[in-house]
Amino acid sequence: MRFGKQVVFVTGGSSGIGLATAKAFLSEGAKVAISARNLPRLRAATRSLRTFGDVLPIRGDVSKATDAQRFVLETERRLGPIDVLVNNAGIWIEKDLEAFTEAEYDRVMDINLKGTFLCSKYALPGMVKRRRGVIVNVASDSAFLGAPGSAVYGASKAGLLLMTKCMALEHARDGIRVNAICPGEVRTPMMEADARRLGLRFGEYYRRLSARIPMGRAADPDEIARSILFLASDESSFMTGAALSVDGGSTAR
Ligand code: NAD
Repeated sequence: MRFGKQVVFVTGGSSGIGLATAKAFLSEGAKVAISARNLPRLRAATRSLRTFGDVLPIRGDVSKATDAQRFVLETERRLGPIDVLVNNAGIWIEKDLEAFTEAEYDRVMDINLKGTFLCSKYALPGMVKRRRGVIVNVASDSAFLGAPGSAVYGASKAGLLLMTKCMALEHARDGIRVNAICPGEVRTPMMEADARRLGLRFGEYYRRLSARIPMGRAADPDEIARSILFLASDESSFMTGAALSVDGGSTAR
């Protein structure tokens, strides 16, 4: 029970990596709040998580300041001061730069980058006051690897890495650590949506994708969750401002 009595807030906790992360924290004794936009999915996730422990669902959009502030206030009012913030909510749109609409560009940046800025902005003052806290930002291997179709998503994740470093330095003496995790390909609904977008059966899509990964397979969301728990735990007590790759070797080339 590495996280017994700790309060953890996971953005985008209704699906994929966020859901696996919430489950892993609950299994280790934490009280967990999850946020997501889609109410039926948030409800379904909450039902599935209740078997593992105490979970608080909060509906809202990380890219809206009023929602981000409400996530933090409600978590602290219902569960207690936040010990761990996992900025996981994110979207992926893959297309060549000139095909991107301005609205799509804004959505990617607003959710992936501004969402992390807002949730951190409202969670940090409490952490500073208590001189205790951990933030884990979920970036991506796309922060390091150029690829066609990845200009906007990749820029949002590369921006997240620099934001992580700056936040880490701003609070290095406050008892607060800030790190990023950089997953490679992960089997989540995000991947299924991409297969549909390309008009491929998932099996065929997965076979082609796996062939490009040195370890020959995508990650299971639980494997990413375990690395997030490592960064949130005292096992990583001297790590701050780091970007941890969990990508089956994709960025080793
Ligand atoms: P997913 O689509 O399964 O889940 C995304 C979650 O984010 C959902 O809970 C959704 O409700 C939430 N979300 C999206 N926009 C939101 C908003 N505006 N406000 C609140 N919540 C919002 O995705 P996933 O694959 O689990 O991805 C999670 C994170 O991991 C993302 O930041 C993504 O960029 C990153 N990532 C994923 C992969 C992958 O292969 N799946 C690889 C690298 C990085």
